[in-house]
Amino acid sequence: NPSLKKFLTLRAKAFETDDYFESEMAWMDLKDTPIEVVIGPYEVYTDKLFGLKTAFESFVTIKNPEESAALDKYKNYLRDMEANLPVDEKYKNFDRGFESPIAVTYQIHGGGDNVPGVQTIAFNLPNDEAVREAKGAKKVLLNNVLGAKFDLILAPMAKEVLVPEQADMLVKKYMSFETLFHELSHSMGPGTITVDGRETTVSSELKELYSKIEEGKADVMGAYNILFMMEKGELPMSEKKAFLATYFTGLFRAMRWGTDEAHGGGAAYQYTFFKDQGAFSWDDNTKRFKLDFDKLEKAISDLTAKVVILQGNGNYDAAKSFLDEYSKLDAHAKEVIANTAHLPTDIAPIYPDKL
Ligand SMILES: [Zn+2]
Repeated sequence: NPSLKKFLTLRAKAFETDDYFESEMAWMDLKDTPIEVVIGPYEVYTDKLFGLKTAFESFVTIKNPEESAALDKYKNYLRDMEANLPVDEKYKNFDRGFESPIAVTYQIHGGGDNVPGVQTIAFNLPNDEAVREAKGAKKVLLNNVLGAKFDLILAPMAKEVLVPEQADMLVKKYMSFETLFHELSHSMGPGTITVDGRETTVSSELKELYSKIEEGKADVMGAYNILFMMEKGELPMSEKKAFLATYFTGLFRAMRWGTDEAHGGGAAYQYTFFKDQGAFSWDDNTKRFKLDFDKLEKAISDLTAKVVILQGNGNYDAAKSFLDEYSKLDAHAKEVIANTAHLPTDIAPIYPDKL
């Protein structure tokens, strides 16, 4: 496959020069290849000092062409979704490329930063804002990893998190959709911004706070966008409660990793914000949460606005006080998380040496 050959050749060169731009562009242009491979320095999750230093990681995946095609239509909504954000026009970002290819894949190997950390179920790369503004970013779903986590972790977890009449509402498909729209949402909202007349980026202004803010943003904006797709008739409105129950339980899956971790800290601020808005209540008889679906829907919209404005303003101190106020667990959350101790926190894939 010529596009894969071009990418691998340019990427090999980038390892020597440390200049990844050209090979990132080639990665975005991969086409008609069943093999989706990622290899390079990407995520900053392990840099606890400034959140700037990337670690090398690799994913080798096989693409499912039918499932990829089925989800591809949603990328055509990126511009509409950006326009639909519940914020002032000045916070909307139409400067990014909207190509955003979507690949549904099966992971067959992982390396580097992918091995010791949390097993990711999807990624949205590259992170380079220059490539994103030229070509958007590619969303890759790792469906075998995701399916295993739903069956072994999320579905059994719902029985500990939600009152019995809501615990059975979860649907695997909505874990996939929330994951996809989480990734799409990483491509939305403020990226390059102007602060005091300086051109900068949200990540350079928010420094080590950025990962946590951004992961929570992708979750809540992902939910906001799924609700928008239901309004548009692309997803059935009758499944709204199934989606909201799946999404809410998903916050606990992330919060178990602790609030220091980017996704866990991002989930915790959603939890606290929703609590303040009355989107759920504590049921003392069952020691479980009971969702108020209408209030949760409203709170999803309000929190999306709040976080986009926080990012667009690029004010470190404001981000810091937001996280101090919201990114924490209360006694009920801790109790529920303790009750999930018998469930695995993650899966440990065993990759065959040979195919
Ligand atoms: Zn993310």
